[in-house]
Amino acid sequence: MPLKESIFSELRACLGGEHVLTKPEDTLPYGFDGTAALKQSPGAVVFPADTLQVAECVRIATRHGVPVVSRGSGTGLSGGSVPVTECLVLCLIRMDQVLQVDPANLTLRVQPGVTTLKVDETAALHGLFYPPDPGSMKISTIGGNVAENSGGLRGLKYGVTRDYVMGLEVVLPDGSIARLGNACVKDVAGYSLKDVFIGSEGTLGVITEILLKLLPRPRARKTMLAVFDRMEDAAETVSAIIAEKIIPCTLEFLDQMTVRCVEDFARIGLPVDCGALLLMETDGHPVVVEEEAVRMGDIASRHGAREIRTAADAAEAQQLATARRSAFSALARMRPTTILEDVTVPRSSLAEMVGYIAGIAAKHRLMVGTFGHMGDGNLHPTFLTDERDAEEMERVHQALDEIVEKTLALGGTITGEHGVGLAKKPWLRRQMGDASYELMKTFKRALDPAGIMNPGKIFD
Ligand SMILES: Cc1cc2nc3c(=O)[nH]c(=O)nc-3n(C[C@H](O)[C@H](O)[C@H](O)COP(=O)(O)OP(=O)(O)OC[C@H]3O[C@@H](n4cnc5c(N)ncnc54)[C@H](O)[C@@H]3O)c2cc1C
Repeated sequence: MPLKESIFSELRACLGGEHVLTKPEDTLPYGFDGTAALKQSPGAVVFPADTLQVAECVRIATRHGVPVVSRGSGTGLSGGSVPVTECLVLCLIRMDQVLQVDPANLTLRVQPGVTTLKVDETAALHGLFYPPDPGSMKISTIGGNVAENSGGLRGLKYGVTRDYVMGLEVVLPDGSIARLGNACVKDVAGYSLKDVFIGSEGTLGVITEILLKLLPRPRARKTMLAVFDRMEDAAETVSAIIAEKIIPCTLEFLDQMTVRCVEDFARIGLPVDCGALLLMETDGHPVVVEEEAVRMGDIASRHGAREIRTAADAAEAQQLATARRSAFSALARMRPTTILEDVTVPRSSLAEMVGYIAGIAAKHRLMVGTFGHMGDGNLHPTFLTDERDAEEMERVHQALDEIVEKTLALGGTITGEHGVGLAKKPWLRRQMGDASYELMKTFKRALDPAGIMNPGKIFD
């Protein structure tokens, strides 16, 4: 049933008319995120300016029994911010203020609509560092990052968003406002409620403020590119670097198809005839950086790298990182529909996994480019396909199923960083087992008894 005019007028009274979209032609762009083929029209889209407006919008929605879908920039890759039928999309991008930088305590307090890049740029002004750097960091919001517990290129050494969240302010489904966690480095008072909200994909409440931990900015950084004829050799290099107890900040993998697409897109002189590339980066104390760079170069050479390039300066290093960040967009130009996987396996199984994915692509006659945060064991096999071709989509789904089965057989996880959303829902119970799956649903029921917050995401 379409939303009633009465809810629109209550929302306009709260936010002002210009911050409430109700016409289908206006709400259309908020009907999808970065996930191909998942679309749904929202009933209305609202743009609150502060926590009190968020709380009031949630109260209005609850009173009318209308679901609320929180949204940052809509770059999600599991369908988390795709609306459900006749819902209210709560878009947080107007809440884009850095509220406080506290260099004495190494913290930063922000509203959820601040972009990830702006968080790190603000930290840098004080010689500080916000490490999580999703490939989408120029546009993704920090609220979206917390809701997805996003990872990034530096996740290998520095971890994921969760490792930097000290406190949250959240609006609960009844419109009340809760503050979780605090600015103390050590705090063990009671349940760690903030951790329940990190990675909850908008299903428990709306994140309206975030207190982040910062680090000192690394003094030195070295970026290298290792070129391989065989992609299994690149994968084995990653396993060997970890096994030799080096934790660089970045070990990114691009297979041949991805290299070709990126070069076609970015034109930076990547070797398009190679089997795979590894982007390797180490940061920290200058002496340690030098030593790790030499050791990583040796390990890559021992595992068959035919060439190792070291970026001459920060500009070249930036160019290489940007090339890696453009992998998804570069692949997406090839065919009408792009389906990006997000499987993660133990790092000793990487060579087996990349070989398996290539075999699956050949078996099902599909175009698949694989890239990813290989140092984390996190791979993104990317299916280049056409959703209008039902027979091809059948083969894609079969291939996806087999890749997930293999991942689970290797002790891996169905998502390393993109979340479950709609895309990974069918496999969650299989990974978690009945008891922990039901425990998650118990949390959801306890916090959101009416099922108003992003229903149908993660699980039904
Ligand atoms: C080119 C590209 C590269 C990417 N690279 C990476 C990567 O390296 N690592 C990675 O982890 N992800 C990556 N992503 C995925 C995506 O950018 C992240 O999941 C990101 O955190 C989503 O942020 P967003 O602001 O776009 O959130 P949205 O897509 O708008 O929302 C994502 C989820 O968060 C919820 N949500 C958003 N804001 C709030 C809030 N304030 N309160 C409660 N819930 C909220 C939504 O309901 C939804 O479930 C990439 C995406 C693209 C397109």
